[in-house]
Amino acid sequence: MRTPSVPDPRRLRVLLVEDDDTIGRHLESGLRGHDYAPTWCRTGASALAEAARAPYEVLLLDLGLPDMDGLDVARHMRDRLPDLLIVVLTARTDDIDIIAGLDAGADDYLTKPFSISVLLARLRAHLRRHAMAAPAREPVRLGDLVVDLPARRCTLHDVEIPLRAKEFDVLSVLTERVGEAVSRETLMAEVWDENWFGSTKTLDVTMVGLRRRLAEAAEAGGRPARLPEITTIRGHGYRLERPSDPAGPEEGHPRKGAP
Ligand code: CA
Repeated sequence: MRTPSVPDPRRLRVLLVEDDDTIGRHLESGLRGHDYAPTWCRTGASALAEAARAPYEVLLLDLGLPDMDGLDVARHMRDRLPDLLIVVLTARTDDIDIIAGLDAGADDYLTKPFSISVLLARLRAHLRRHAMAAPAREPVRLGDLVVDLPARRCTLHDVEIPLRAKEFDVLSVLTERVGEAVSRETLMAEVWDENWFGSTKTLDVTMVGLRRRLAEAAEAGGRPARLPEITTIRGHGYRLERPSDPAGPEEGHPRKGAP
């Protein structure tokens, strides 16, 4: 039985799709031991469902799957997730299969058998290029609250709110989907563990703490503050809502150099 820990959402999330038990286990433990957070699916259908449920940075995709052609999985994923790094793992060595894999949207391929260190080196190279190409993520402004995700800072009227690590993580997940309903399962999976099946009481406690700290910060500021609302959706989860702005349409990201 796997231990239900190693819950660091800042690790890169890898969706591993492999029906072979030995290879799957080997890759899963290799990735886990090298700062990746893998989730292992054995079929194409379960991988597509998992990718729709939670965000992933990397897809490691076996082409020979029991339920569908890996190339179709690659095409679906590429259509839905243009930024996903897709590496095809294949026993097929014919050039035609490799070309088909790349045409289906894969960024790279590895021919089995391959060593985990080669896989890790390829991933590092891709992710380095990816990071350089990705635009800098700007802080998100929600009324008077600014959430700076890369810096892990949350400020109200430029005063930092001392959130606990998990409170910030929960706020981050909600901020990335502002205006959308986020299920308790998604929050548990992204903030605590990708395979959480236990009690979600810890989420309730964290949410109470987050709401209290935001309210306390607003009170301590000594002037009116427009804060986003964390709405509880019964039987589902939560939704972060931008404060309504009587002065006009709500701003999105603060402009660079704006006062
Ligand atoms: Ca296979």
